[in-house]
This record gives sequence, C-alpha cells and structure tokens, in this order.
Amino acid sequence: MDQRHPARHKSDVVLRLVPSAAAQPVPDDRRPAAPSFRRYPLARVVGLDLLTAAHFALGCAAIFVAWRGQPIVAWPVGLAYLVFATVQSFLLTPLVVCPGCVYRTVTDGRCPSALNLLSARLCPPASDTAEFRRRTCGPLCQTSLSLASWVFPLPVALAGLALHPSWPTAVLTAALAVSLPLRAYLGRTAVCPRCLSRRWCPVARIIRAA
Ligand code: SF4
Repeated sequence: MDQRHPARHKSDVVLRLVPSAAAQPVPDDRRPAAPSFRRYPLARVVGLDLLTAAHFALGCAAIFVAWRGQPIVAWPVGLAYLVFATVQSFLLTPLVVCPGCVYRTVTDGRCPSALNLLSARLCPPASDTAEFRRRTCGPLCQTSLSLASWVFPLPVALAGLALHPSWPTAVLTAALAVSLPLRAYLGRTAVCPRCLSRRWCPVARIIRAA
C-alpha cells in the first residue's frame, strides 16, 4: 500500500497513512489515540448512513406536516430540501471533497460513510488536497452546505409549528431536534476518533475544539 497521499508532490502537507509512533499526533485531551479503521466495520457504516438518510427523510416529513395547510409551501420546500440534502451528501461530497481524502489512497479501505467507494467510481483522486483542506472555508464551503442539510428543516418546522400547532408537527420537530445533537455526539465519540483522515480533516479539528 502506498504510504503517502498522492498530493504530496504538490502540497507541503505530507499525509502519511500509517504514521510512525513518533509521528502520532498528541491528542488534545492527552489520552491515547484510538486505533484508526482502514476499513470501517460495515455495521457502523450502515448505521451512520441510515442515520443520515433518516434525518433527511424526517426533515422532509416535518416540513410537509408542519405546512400541510399550505401545499404551495409544503411541496416545493420539502422536496427541494430532500433533493438538496441528498445531492449534497451523496453526490457533491464524493465529487468535491472525497477525491482529496486519505481514504482514496487506501487499498480496500472503507471510510466511515463508505463514500470513498462511491467517489472512486465517480472520479479520479485529486492531485492535491486543496478542496479537502478548504472544506471549512467560506460561507458556501462544503461544511456549510453539509450543516445546512442537517439544520435547515428545524427552523422551517418550528415556524410551521408556531403558525399551525399540532401534535404530529410537535413530535416530528422534537425528533429533528434530538437527531442533530445525536449525530454530533456520534461523530465526536464514535466516528471521528477512528477515522484515518482525522489528522487532516478540518471538520474533525472543529469537532475536537468544540
Ligand atoms: S472520510 Fe469523509 S472525505 Fe474521506 S472519503 Fe469518507 S466521506 Fe469522503
């Protein structure tokens, strides 16, 4: 297996997939780092992707139910959200971010969401890691879009709940509100600490600092 990221020749960042013990980063909390998964267990991958898909479906349902009295709002906003969230997560990310990710260089590797496999089918690996490292820069960066795909339905459903209070809307809105911190907690405790790309991923850095 190639030990270096293919972008090394263009970047000043050397991405070693199997860092030596001396090169291991010192974790912020000084505890020993958990060993990384080159190939994430299938059950974790399926669980994470199901949680993501369930959140998008829940968000769409919450918008529909909250605004069902005004179909002219409910249908276009709900469907537009579902299309945006799905395309952003399962098409744009593999096309734009994943090509510069270290998982694209691991033979038989599988990242936490298995999007490296989809990315490998869609496009070649990036010649540098610029997109991967810039994913948190700017208002329309990949991280902002990803955050929007998770957060957007909540204020829309809350507005519908305020205008047309109902139990179904309240239940769906509460489920959305629980799903967000649950995903953040899972990312911090179960996903990022075992991800090979956590040393270079700006999102993991933000999560660590939070
Ligand atoms: S870890 Fe993230 S950036 Fe890397 S391949 Fe998987 S989804 Fe893409």
